[in-house]
Amino acid sequence: MKPREAVLRALELGLSGLTFTEHYDTHPEDWPTCCYDDEAYGADVAALRAEFGGDIHIGKGIEVCCQPDRMKRILEFLAGRDFDVVILSVHWVDKGAGAIHDRNRWAGKTADQMSRAYLAAVLNATEICVSLKQQSRSPFSVLGHLDLVRRYGRRFLGTDAPLGHQDLVDAILRNCLAADLVPEINTSSLRQGLDEPMPGPAVVRRYAELGGTALALGSDAHAVEHLGAGLERAAVMARDCGISRQAVFKNGHMESLPLAE
Ligand SMILES: [Zn+2]
Repeated sequence: MKPREAVLRALELGLSGLTFTEHYDTHPEDWPTCCYDDEAYGADVAALRAEFGGDIHIGKGIEVCCQPDRMKRILEFLAGRDFDVVILSVHWVDKGAGAIHDRNRWAGKTADQMSRAYLAAVLNATEICVSLKQQSRSPFSVLGHLDLVRRYGRRFLGTDAPLGHQDLVDAILRNCLAADLVPEINTSSLRQGLDEPMPGPAVVRRYAELGGTALALGSDAHAVEHLGAGLERAAVMARDCGISRQAVFKNGHMESLPLAE
């Protein structure tokens, strides 16, 4: 996606802002395809702000792939930089043994087994955030697509089985609340064969029951035509599930806005 085209599309859609969240991947297997260049990225965003900043908010964010054994390196990287939002996401399961988007990782496994492995990794990620919070550190603002496993269950096994594992889901949501980590509703699953965003209504309702009030919304667009796709549906779902506010991040600070009607 060309960043300038994304901004033009956001203006066309009437969005009040968009935030780029480049991937930051620390696993060597990701490096051939995910090469993060902070200088080039910052220059791109600065140029777009100079051109369009009067008309639309343009955020510079980042999506960090959680690799627990590389957390020191991740935290050092983040410490020296200012992002509007830092998303922590799990793409690797079983202590970094395999990427969830790798079809081979699914061989001989059921959707239920993969769900459990994925959610265990997400739980571990949130535990890291809770322990950082206990040291008064909050380097991550948003927990990305906490049930991403469903998107790949659909892709690799053709299933849209429910997520299950309420014990893990509850623990993840409680950790989010304890660590000031806002879960994201990610709408990419709606264009990849699932009938729900990630997470869907059951998890969002549970988050509200546990005391959650605001969620972040993301279309996870990797192509201009997907920018903002599904956000209205996600907002309706969130409101139906008892969430009335949207978490928006600028300069690392959260603003909680009423979800648009
Ligand atoms: Zn992701």
